[in-house]
Amino acid sequence: MEFDLIERVRDLTAQARDDVLTGIGDDAAVLTVPAGRELAVAMDTLVAGVHFPPGTRAFDIGWKALAVNLSDLAAMGAVPAWALLSMTLPDADCAFVEGLAEGFAALAAPHRVALVGGDTTRGPLSITVAVHGFLPSGQGLLRSGANVGDVVMVTGTLGDAAAGLRCIGTGRGDDLVARLDRPTPRVAAGGALRGVATACIDVSDGLVADLGHICRASGVAAELDPALLPRSEALRAMFADNDTTAFALTGGDDYELCFTLPSQHVADVSAEMARLGCGATRIGRIVAGQGVRLADTAGQWHAAAVGGWDHFAP
Ligand code: ADP
Ligand code: MG
Repeated sequence: MEFDLIERVRDLTAQARDDVLTGIGDDAAVLTVPAGRELAVAMDTLVAGVHFPPGTRAFDIGWKALAVNLSDLAAMGAVPAWALLSMTLPDADCAFVEGLAEGFAALAAPHRVALVGGDTTRGPLSITVAVHGFLPSGQGLLRSGANVGDVVMVTGTLGDAAAGLRCIGTGRGDDLVARLDRPTPRVAAGGALRGVATACIDVSDGLVADLGHICRASGVAAELDPALLPRSEALRAMFADNDTTAFALTGGDDYELCFTLPSQHVADVSAEMARLGCGATRIGRIVAGQGVRLADTAGQWHAAAVGGWDHFAP
C-alpha cells in the first residue's frame, strides 16, 4: 500500500532534470550541484489544524507545503531545484494522496522542481517538504545586511491571507481565502533582488514580526508608515481601514518578500517587480536603534506590538 502511494506520488510529480542522477526509488537520491553554485536548503512542516484548517482540500495542502518552502528559497534569492516530501497520514487514502501530489505538482512544474525522495508514515496528518536551490557563490540574501538609511520595501499586498482565515465558511472573500490556501512564492522577485537588496525575508509570521527579524539580525531599527502598506482591492472591499492595517501589520501567511535596499535602487527595483507581476511598495526606512516602530496619524513614532505567530507562545 505504502509503495503504491509512493508510486502515485512519483508519477504525478514527474519532472525531468539532468541534475537528478537517481530520484525516487532508491535508498537516497543522487544529485549534481552545478560548479560555482552554493546550495540553499530549507524545510517546513504543515500540521493539520495548525497550518491549515480542517477541511482544506488535499490539492491546496500539497500546493501550500511546497509554496512555503519555495518562499524561503525566494527570500534567499535562490533558484529552486529539488524537493523532498514527508507525508504522515492517518490512513492510506489514495484520493487524498493524489490530490496532494497534484497540488504539489501544479506549483513544482512551473518552477521545474523535481521531487527526488521523501518518507511515508502513519500518524496524525502532517506534511513536511524540504527544498534545495542554487545560489551563485556568496550571493545569498541574508537577514543581516540592512544598513541605516536603507529603504524598506515589500512585494505584492499584505493582509489577504489573515483576512482569508476570517472568511472561511462565510461564503464570502473567495479571493482572500485563495491567498491563504494557495500562496504564490515570489521566486523570480527574490532572484532579481540578488546583488541589490541588502537584507530579505519572506512574510510568513506577519510583517512586524518578520521585519523585526531583519532588524535583530542587522542590529538596526525600522520605521514603518502604516498608511503606505499595500492592501488588495479584495481586502479593502471587505474590511474597514483599521482592520486592513492590522491584518497587513500582523497577519501571517502572505509569503510576500520584505527587503531593504539603498534608496538609489528603489526606482529600478520597483520597475523590475512591476515587470515580474507582483510589484513592490516602499513602506518605511531603516534607522539606528532596535525593533520596529510605527507612525501614528499625528506622525509620532511608537514601538510596534509584535503580534506575529509564535508556536510556543504561552
Ligand atoms: P527507506 O526504507 O529506504 O527509507 P522508503 O520506503 O521510505 O525507503 O522509500 C522508498 C523510496 O521512496 C525512497 O526513494 C524515498 O525517497 C521515496 N519516498 C518515500 N516516501 C515518499 C514521498 N512521500 N514522496 C516522495 N518520495 C518518497
Ligand atoms: Mg523511509
